[in-house]
Amino acid sequence: MTTPLSVYLPFNRDCLGATFAPAKHGTKPPDPIGHWLLVQDQRLVVVPDGAALRLPTGVLPAGFRDAHVDPFWLGTLDGTECWVGALERDVKLPEGFVAETLVPMQGTRLSDDLLSLGGMAMQALWWEGTSGHCPRCGERTERLEGEWGKRCSKCRYEHYPHLHPAVIVMVKDGNRCLLARKAGWAPGRYALVAGFVDNGESLEGAVAREVKEEVGLDVTDIRYVGSQNWPFPSQLMVGFVAWYAGGDVTIDATELEDAQWFPHDALPGLPSRHSISRYIIDHYAATDGPDATERGARPS
Ligand SMILES: [Zn+2]
Repeated sequence: MTTPLSVYLPFNRDCLGATFAPAKHGTKPPDPIGHWLLVQDQRLVVVPDGAALRLPTGVLPAGFRDAHVDPFWLGTLDGTECWVGALERDVKLPEGFVAETLVPMQGTRLSDDLLSLGGMAMQALWWEGTSGHCPRCGERTERLEGEWGKRCSKCRYEHYPHLHPAVIVMVKDGNRCLLARKAGWAPGRYALVAGFVDNGESLEGAVAREVKEEVGLDVTDIRYVGSQNWPFPSQLMVGFVAWYAGGDVTIDATELEDAQWFPHDALPGLPSRHSISRYIIDHYAATDGPDATERGARPS
């Protein structure tokens, strides 16, 4: 068995494998017919089909034709074109359709493939909604041919979809690991320390700084584990394990509600399996380091 290129996690496009070809390098089909990724307020419109949830397919279903959907082409899934459209929050869904949350923490019922497609759709909508005007001079932008990028019609400034790198890290010390929680999370649920990368910072520098700022600890031997695209709205979560090198746990109360050391065999409530936070905890809480575990394959 070969080791996958990346960790298997929903929202990583690679988890769709070769079935999905992004729109970037193709010619836009003339008519919007195919799969529909209709997004309403971080929810994806699907059709219940027995126990499964599937995408609406064909022409835009009749019940949505008054909803001012302005479809754009996202790519091709197994030879079928995928079209993205945004629905206003107050649009009532026609009979036979439901809007299922794309947010894992809200207990989504969507399959990993639908989460990954829906995540791309949300990110594309976010980019469309924030790139209509030049960030430099305010003039309208136009789409660059065959690209997601936009060019200003006046000053010619070009910009591309913005991904925001953030680090997420499990601090280990012997058989215990440091977990933290924010106010507002489900009672008793803990996860990993995380934060955005600053200008001028390396990923490792961001890990050391975030751990110091949020929980007051020094770390060493920072090891990369894997990454996850996180479309809420547009993060790239870069996952690490680091080793404790000193200090007492002192939380930044503006960021966290609590942080504690937990033995690897007595962990508290954790995030769902969809996030890289849980992936790192599951794979590395009980190991001596990232080299000890094979990277995750697609669950069967
Ligand atoms: Zn401009």
